[in-house]
Amino acid sequence: MDIDLSQFDQIWLNLSGGKDSQTLALQMVDLAGRQGVCGRLRAVHSDTGAEWSCTRSVVQNLCRRLEIPLEIVTPKVTIPEYIEKRQYFPSMRCRFCTSIKTGAIDKLIRKYNPFRQESKVLCVTGERREESPKRSKLAEFEVHKTLTAGKRQVFRYRPLLDWKEHQIWDAINKSGIPAHPAYTEYGNERLSCALCIFACDQDLRNGALNRPDLAERYLKVERESGFLFREKRSLQQILHPQVDEDDLFAWAEKAAV
Ligand code: SF4
Repeated sequence: MDIDLSQFDQIWLNLSGGKDSQTLALQMVDLAGRQGVCGRLRAVHSDTGAEWSCTRSVVQNLCRRLEIPLEIVTPKVTIPEYIEKRQYFPSMRCRFCTSIKTGAIDKLIRKYNPFRQESKVLCVTGERREESPKRSKLAEFEVHKTLTAGKRQVFRYRPLLDWKEHQIWDAINKSGIPAHPAYTEYGNERLSCALCIFACDQDLRNGALNRPDLAERYLKVERESGFLFREKRSLQQILHPQVDEDDLFAWAEKAAV
């Protein structure tokens, strides 16, 4: 049974620009339309400073086509700035990058809904169970404990939890709205930050081609700190394995030509 959207004052769609968030937007516009509450939909995109160069315009185009008002938020300290300042990369145990990304969104929700003012807000995200064991255990609907405070009630909703990848692509192809070029032009498996610790090697190489500036900054951190991008593997080895370890910038110079 569909969730009753009419009980919420605002319905925020968290859009990363990837295939799941695109499908999320399509589904929620359809559902809100059937329930007569399209006017309550809002979208938010958190630009972490580590995004693909075209992600912002992909999200803007999607929202324009679906007529959803969009807010783009940027964290006070971006992910690359934080990495440079601390001289280490995020890891499974210390995922500060996710907190940076979601923190900017939480700030926006708080701004629109001060805790002294009565409000009921829905935050919608596009996680799917088949993506990881952790995601397989997520609840479809639950209280958003970080944001619920005072008279502000906030809930999380994850309508795509049981969707399979082929269903996601079917929905996107049916919509006629192009998917992010990371998939269609570069052949990425997943879309994330251009250089994400969880990405496969090929997706990292694609991300470095798209954001050579970001790759250069991360390589510099590796070289100066000795801290590896992955626990047992350097970004240098992943991006340009044939280049000598001492020549950490050679690959970036080639990519820039
Ligand atoms: S996409 Fe990867 S690097 Fe970016 S915030 Fe998420 S986990 Fe961190």
